[in-house]
Amino acid sequence: MTYIITEPCINVKDTACVDVCPVDCIHPRKDEEGFAEAVQLYINPDECIDCGACEPACPVAAIFPEEEVPEKWKSFIPVNYDYYKK
Ligand code: SF4
Repeated sequence: MTYIITEPCINVKDTACVDVCPVDCIHPRKDEEGFAEAVQLYINPDECIDCGACEPACPVAAIFPEEEVPEKWKSFIPVNYDYYKK
């Protein structure tokens, strides 16, 4: 299981989630290449430990456990996975 970042993050990229993630699996960070160009942040599904810390930290409620992603935002599940296949 993993958490997934969905549509409300687009063009927000608050990064509060990045600050609370204990395993640094949310990218790009502000200090990483590609942050300015990224439309949203993404959770690495292979590294996420499902701790849930990011979900309440997000000011726009963009983060959900994979199995609880709202139907209208299910397309963001492969969007998060695919970011780390590059
Ligand atoms: Fe990081 Fe925990 Fe959120 Fe997974 S659930 S992205 S490990 S803060």
